[in-house]
Amino acid sequence: MTAVVQLADVHKTYHTGEVDVHAVRGVSLEIGKGEFVAFMGSSGSGKSTLMNILGCLDRPSRGSYRLDGADVSQLGRNALADIRNRKLGFVFQNFNLLSRTSALENVELPLLYSHRRFTTRELREKGERALQLVGLGKRLDHHPSQLSGGQQQRVAVARALINEPEVLLADEPTGNLDSRTSVEIMGVFQQLNEQGITIIMVTHELDIASYAKRNIVMRDGKILTDVPVAARLDSREEMRKLEEAHKLSLE
Ligand code: ADP
Ligand code: MG
Repeated sequence: MTAVVQLADVHKTYHTGEVDVHAVRGVSLEIGKGEFVAFMGSSGSGKSTLMNILGCLDRPSRGSYRLDGADVSQLGRNALADIRNRKLGFVFQNFNLLSRTSALENVELPLLYSHRRFTTRELREKGERALQLVGLGKRLDHHPSQLSGGQQQRVAVARALINEPEVLLADEPTGNLDSRTSVEIMGVFQQLNEQGITIIMVTHELDIASYAKRNIVMRDGKILTDVPVAARLDSREEMRKLEEAHKLSLE
């Protein structure tokens, strides 16, 4: 298995005011191409900080991060922005769509920041294809207000896929959705993963995490457990350990 993400002893300390916050305290981790990983853990356990590092939105204070084989832990702002555009797609809890803009235009947006220039026709073709991937090929001209929450999140997923990223990163992608719609979005994630897209997501719901193939529970900036979901489903013992870790992480 080719590793797409390799973290070695990653730390992140925030220096704000009087006290230092050690948000991530020594995480080592490999994620292979085609994996679907869910990070869990209580609020404050360092999930978003780790996601920001994985997403090249922030740099580790210590330790190394190799993305797709290249060390990105020392890169400056511009180089990180470039890597983000080329290799990563982002999905957020609150969709972050432009409200007065059609689904298609929302999805095309990242292409306008690309180094490559696209013709209007290329933009449309790529945008349509991405929306078809998430089952919204018939809603191209709808504005976000004309779409349900689940459909809006699908638009956001299509936008994240437009640059054909190496990794899709999603921080609590179902956090603003009801449980039925959450399951629908997890269905979309599973389909994309079956097509070979690597997915890393954060959730604090055990049932949402079970749609992934691998579950990692964080606590106090460290990895508490890291188990394949298949093991969790096959073995009561693994299931019990994970539930316990999850419960512990919430204390
Ligand atoms: P989670 O996503 O698991 O809730 P976070 O990564 O957001 O956890 O936060 C981990 C710790 O780091 C928390 O104590 C939080 O208050 C702190 N933290 C997060 N972001 C910042 C920041 N930008 N500046 C200072 N402290 C931060
Ligand atoms: Mg968070």
